[in-house]
Amino acid sequence: MKKVLITGAAGFIGSHLCDRFISEGYHVIGMDNLITGNIKNIEHLFPLKHFEYYHHDVSKFVHVSGELDYILHFASPASPIDYLKMPIQTLKVGSLGTHNLLGLAKLKNARILIASTSEVYGDPLVHPQHEEYWGNVNPIGPRGVYDEAKRFQEAIAMAYHTYHGLETRIVRIFNTYGPRMRVEDGRVLPAFFSQAIKGEGLTVFGEGQQTRSFCYVDDLVEGIFRLLLSDYHLPVNIGNPSEITIMQFAHEIMDLVGNPSAHIIYNPLPVDDPKQRRPDITRAKEILGWEPKVSREAGLLRTYEYFKTVVAPNI
Ligand code: UDP
Repeated sequence: MKKVLITGAAGFIGSHLCDRFISEGYHVIGMDNLITGNIKNIEHLFPLKHFEYYHHDVSKFVHVSGELDYILHFASPASPIDYLKMPIQTLKVGSLGTHNLLGLAKLKNARILIASTSEVYGDPLVHPQHEEYWGNVNPIGPRGVYDEAKRFQEAIAMAYHTYHGLETRIVRIFNTYGPRMRVEDGRVLPAFFSQAIKGEGLTVFGEGQQTRSFCYVDDLVEGIFRLLLSDYHLPVNIGNPSEITIMQFAHEIMDLVGNPSAHIIYNPLPVDDPKQRRPDITRAKEILGWEPKVSREAGLLRTYEYFKTVVAPNI
């Protein structure tokens, strides 16, 4: 039986990865320090013989006994308000944490996949973003702590690959959504769903003309699974190329929820908010035979079912 270590296991994407690897017959070690993760996301796995949970901060030395085949490094604060609140932890988990996990991978002769991000492209001047684009990042802006940690993470993964011959995989994840997103994480989808359900104002930042492209979590997990098992070590974008403005997105969510009290309100645009974002997924198609399957309509419906269980309407 293959053994996989997943860091950030109690987070949104990490917990879906745990489910997938369990269902594929792997022994899964989930690691988290719960600063943004939620143990409820993986509670259903605790009774299973082939799931173990380690409560640990991967920015500190990581020890796992026995053999290890794969490591997936998904631990990090991942929403703009989280990394504003925890800038140092964000930098540490992407840099020191990645270094520790690369060391562990080398020791165990394990293959390691690191979670990078479309944020490495910053506020992109090339559209859509393909993997050859080097990006437009402000290193000292509020998002710099996340963006630069992830860029460092890619650099050190490549260095371990080139210098030590380590098997590394780099996924650049674009905006992803689905059940288990944290209601209060400040990201656009949890914010809009919770405001629409409660019948409050949906907080559109700026004029809402900035664009994003939203990928349903099951599609993302499929792409990550294929990339891990591939023999490709350069970065691969995984995301859904269907692009919309944030204003359109607000209307789609209001229409789906159908609460007549919900309405749009305007808040200032955050500093360095990227104006547009859409993945070029040519590489993922060619190398992994992957493309997203879940339409936004279907994905939002499944996500709404989840948010109904965690957010109550105002009465
Ligand atoms: N956004 C918004 N209202 C919110 C939260 C976010 O209009 O309550 C906007 C934000 O300015 C950005 C987009 O939605 O342009 C996506 O933001 P998110 O924080 O989800 O992730 P990002 O893609 O910026 O990392």
